Order: sequence, then structure tokens, then C-alpha cells
Amino acid sequence: MIPFVDFRDQYHSIKPEIDAAIARVLESGQFILGEEVAAFEREFADYCGVAHAAALNSGTSALHLALLAADVGPGDEVITVPFTFVATAATIVYVGATPVFVDVDDRSLTMDPEAVAAAITPRTKAIVPVHLYGQPADMDPIRAVAAEHGLIVIEDAAQAHGARYRGVRVGGLGDLACFSFYPTKNLGAYGEGGIVVTNDVACAERVRLLRDWGQARKYEHTIHAFNMRMEALQGAILRVKLRHLPEWTAARRRIAAEYGRALDGCGARLPVEMDYGTHVYHQYTLRVGDRAAFQESLRDAGVPTALHYPVPVHLQPAYGYLGYAPGSFPVAERAARETVSLPMYPELTNEQVQHVAASVRRALAAVST
Ligand SMILES: *Cc1c(COP(=O)(O)O)cnc(C)c1O
Repeated sequence: MIPFVDFRDQYHSIKPEIDAAIARVLESGQFILGEEVAAFEREFADYCGVAHAAALNSGTSALHLALLAADVGPGDEVITVPFTFVATAATIVYVGATPVFVDVDDRSLTMDPEAVAAAITPRTKAIVPVHLYGQPADMDPIRAVAAEHGLIVIEDAAQAHGARYRGVRVGGLGDLACFSFYPTKNLGAYGEGGIVVTNDVACAERVRLLRDWGQARKYEHTIHAFNMRMEALQGAILRVKLRHLPEWTAARRRIAAEYGRALDGCGARLPVEMDYGTHVYHQYTLRVGDRAAFQESLRDAGVPTALHYPVPVHLQPAYGYLGYAPGSFPVAERAARETVSLPMYPELTNEQVQHVAASVRRALAAVST
């Protein structure tokens, strides 16, 4: 049985560094923000090629505070995609704004830039493209539309640490960008974590105030704010793991290439790496016809699969009030029916990859007969 994700192998590969980082925090007695988190912010901003970073307690908080820092609020519309994790839309609602969905491109499964222009109204304030599965959205045309209409671009880069678009790292492609350090992400904490990165110093300062009760000085609450601070333990752990991210990203890309070779002509649609960028394969996601039977056949072979995501956000009961009917976004809806993710993490062995690929071929043959 191959696990869908595995954290233990990775921990063992870096155990002395992680254990030392944890001990350093415990000895310091500084458990929230502090030097470790400040150092991580500098290192992660450098990694993304941006000037500022503000570390938070989750990727959801990063989206929430980025929207607030960009002054998005009640009466505003924010254009985003329905084929994403629910947090992308939920945070737009948190700030009192209205999500306006546009369909995704059938090859990349990221925001269709041509659909964006048609969705703009006088109330549109921002655009939130999602770098789904580790592949950047097509940012040049999205930025061109944003510039033409004076809109803010906030990248949802929760799945795409280190991915590049025309040579530029995600995080530096919009006005603000949001990352998650949820344990399964390409850069994962040993708990919850997230970060906002930006080149705009005023936005970065605003996120710092918003995460810590609006206090520039203790007990002086300049704005209505939250407790969304990163813990020092997560900062120290993420500093260690960031140093290993390039080798882990290379391993994900190697595994994706191996899946691609082993599954060539298998009958399923394989992920498309767009020629404008570098995919970091947070997920390796196929598209198949009879997905339920395919998953069951793989399960019998000891290969777990997962769905990202089976119901697009516009058809979730919680967002029914927005009034989107089935059929509103045919590409996203079809992707939600067909997509299925295979095990993908840097520690997968070549034997495991070959076993998964052979099982996929057998499952597809069984399903189609
Ligand atoms: C994981 C994820 C988030 C939310 O991050 P958390 O750290 O889990 O709050 C937001 N958007 C996308 C696309 C994600 O994959």
C-alpha cells in the first residue's frame, strides 16, 4: 500500500536540523512571531524575489488579510475561479465582498484570461487567480486587463511555492500573493501556517497590523484587527524546510516526468505543463471518464487517489445564494467530474511510481472494457 502523502520519510531525512530548530525555539522562550518568524519572512521574501513578507497562521488568513490590505470590502466584486479550494472564495465573503466566478482554461485548469474582461463591472475591485496544482495561471493577459481597469491582482499561490511564470517566481506576479504552509503543501509546516508577500511596503505593514490586533505599540489598537500570527516553532521549522525546497521541487518534477513517460498513451488525459512556466506539481492530476470505477480499481491495487476538487465552488450549497446554475462554467464543471490525483511527494521511490503507473494502466483497461 502506497500512502497518498507521507511526512515521516521527509522528517527523517532532515531530523537533526528540525530537532535543533525546535530546541532553539523552546530554549528561547519566544513562541509567537519573534526572531525566527522575522528571519523566515526575510528568507521567504528573498526566495520569491519580493521585498516584503508577513507570516500568518494559515493560507486562509493570508487571503483574508491580503484582501483587507488591498482595501477590498462591502460592495466590491472580486473575480476568481470556481475550480479551486473553497478558501479562495470564502475569504472574499469574509471581507464583505462578492465573488464573481469566471471559467478556467481546459488545458491548464487555471483562470481563462479571456473570461475575465467579460466579468468586469463598475464594482470590480480585484482579481484572484489561483496557481492550481502548482502551475501558474496565465498572468500576462490577466495583469493587462487589471491594469486597463485599475484592478488589484492577488495571487492565490497556496499550491505553487517556487513555480515560475516566464522566468519569474510566483509571489512576484501580482500586487500581493498568498501562500499556505498547510502540511501537505509543497512547503509544509508541522502545523498551520501562511504568508502574504508583496513589493508594497504599505500593504505589508497593513498585514502586520491586521495579524496582531492592530498594535504598532502594545495596547494601542489603531485598526480593527485579528490574532493571525505565525508561531515561532512553525517559523523555525519552515526556515529549515525552505532550504530543502529546491531539491524537493526537483524531485516532484522528476516524478511527474516519470509518470508522464510511464502513462504515455494510457487513455487518460495527463497534466499539461504550459509553455509559459514551470510547474511544481503540488498535485499530479489525471482526467478520466469513469472516475469512480477507476478509483475503486486503483484502491484494490493499493494505490490511493484523491479529488481536487469534486464540486466547483459555485455549485457548493454555501454559495447557492450567489445564484449560479449548473452549466454556468462548463470547463470547471467537467474538470470537477473527471480529475483524479495520484500520489505525489518528493520521497516517492521509482518503484512506487512504476507501481502506480502500471496500476493506472490496468485500471483504465478494466474500466474501458
Ligand atoms: C490550501 C489552500 C488554501 C488555504 O490554505 P490553509 O493554509 O489551509 O488555510 C487556499 N487556497 C488554495 C488554492 C489552497 O490550496
